[in-house]
This record gives sequence, structure tokens and C-alpha cells, in this order.
Amino acid sequence: MRLERRTEAERRMEADRAHGGPAPTEPALALAGVTKAYRRGAQPVLCRVDLVLRPGEWAFLTGPSGAGKSTVLKLFYGAVRPDEGTVRVLGMDVARVPPHRVRRHMGLVFQSFELLPQKTVLENVAYGAEILGFPPREAAAAARRMLAAVGLEGLAGRFPWELSGGEQQRVGIARALIHRPPIVLADEPTGNLDVDTARRVFEIFRAVHQEWQPTMLIATHSRDLLEWAEARVIRVEGGRLTEDTAASRRGAGKEAALP
Ligand code: ADP
Repeated sequence: MRLERRTEAERRMEADRAHGGPAPTEPALALAGVTKAYRRGAQPVLCRVDLVLRPGEWAFLTGPSGAGKSTVLKLFYGAVRPDEGTVRVLGMDVARVPPHRVRRHMGLVFQSFELLPQKTVLENVAYGAEILGFPPREAAAAARRMLAAVGLEGLAGRFPWELSGGEQQRVGIARALIHRPPIVLADEPTGNLDVDTARRVFEIFRAVHQEWQPTMLIATHSRDLLEWAEARVIRVEGGRLTEDTAASRRGAGKEAALP
């Protein structure tokens, strides 16, 4: 994957990020003593959890369905507020800044590709940049580069319904990451794909990580991908987070408190 010739707007955005970014030693993503229950008096989904991801770190969130993986991601992108504790993104306390200020530093990828059906592939990707303030021409140029990076330059003029599921998700990733965000959050990004297609999509995440070293947190329940990708694995279960890095590769049930 090669992303070349950044536009002036992209450079401005990177400079802006650098200005507001964390000190090198500061976590990129952090939960401190976070508790979240969706209903008053109910068993919390997360109970006094701590988590730290350093800048450039790549980790998976895993655990049974309903365990709280999406909740962890939503806390970071400000769709859910903690009952107790602090959520920080690039040093920003998410409770104290408007969600759009946090989200402009992020690329969000979801299981459902959420492409706009009336727009072409190129327009869908460019749209990701336009809503961040790129002028339309720069957005289109950035979209073309991003489509080439995910191997879809030949499909720029198609509509989403003319693509396979794997191709749609590659468009979704190109759109979400067009501004080269320092944080990438993905919620079951391969949940609708077969194993081989899922691996190809994960190759793109791997290439993205090599390209600009964003901090990446990806929720998946795919054991296959966890073993194959060999990244840090954080397990969400019973309201707790446990480190599971060795377990997927060695079959050992290592558990340790985080961070
Ligand atoms: P996962 O991503 O691991 O499947 P979620 O974070 O989506 O888990 O959900 C964790 C738990 O919280 C589940 O029991 C789910 O039903 C519940 N939950 C999630 N969102 C809401 C909500 N908005 N209102 C009430 N309960 C919710």
C-alpha cells in the first residue's frame, strides 16, 4: 500500500493533529476506572475497567457476543458515556470535549458498510473527506489515492450494489481512513464476510498500520483472525478486561489484569 503526494489540506490536518496530539509517552486510548451499566441497578457491562493503548499500538477486542466490545469502542468515540471513570483519546478527556472534536482524529469502521447507495465508489470515499472539510477537488484526489491503496481503483465509477461484500468493506475502510487518522476503531469489520475475504480485509488494516502507525483497536470474535494477525488481544467478559495475547497462539489461558 502506498499513499503518496498528500494534499495541502491533508498536511494541514496532520499538523493540526500534531498540535493537539499526545506527548510521546501519553496513551493514545485510555480507560481509567470505567463502569458502565445501561440500566440503573442492572449488572454493569463494564465494571471499573482500566485499559491503555500506546500510540501506534494495534490490539483486538474479543469476547462473547453481548460482553461489551462495542461498548468499549463507543466509549472512545463518545456514543456512550461512562457512569464512573475517565475515557481519554489522545490525551483528551472525552467527557470534556465535543464528540466531533474527538472523532476527527479517528477512522470508524463498522460491520455494516454503510455506503451511500446513490453515490459511486469514488463519491462515497470522497464524502469521507468532504465532511472533514476537504475542498471537493482535494477530496476526490485523496479518494483516488485511497482507492488505489485498497486495490479498488478500477471500480471507482461503480455503485455499492455492484460490489461484493469484501469490496464494499474495502470502500468503507477507504472512506473511514481517508484523512490518515491517528486512531482507527473497528467494530466487527469482517463480521459479514467469509474467512478468505475477511483475511484480505485484514491485510488492508495491516497495510494501514505499516503505512502511518495509527493506534488501532478492532473488535472481532473471529478466532481465526486473532491467531493469524498476531496482535495484542484484550478479552471482554463478565464486566472485566483481561489480556489474552498468548492464549490465541499457544493455547494457554493466560490472564492478567490490565494495563
Ligand atoms: P458486544 O459488542 O460484545 O456484543 P455490546 O457492547 O454491544 O456487546 O453490549 C453489551 C451489553 O449491553 C449487551 O447485553 C447489550 O444487550 C447491552 N446493551 C448494549 N447497548 C445497549 C443499550 N443502548 N441499551 C441497553 N442495553 C444495551
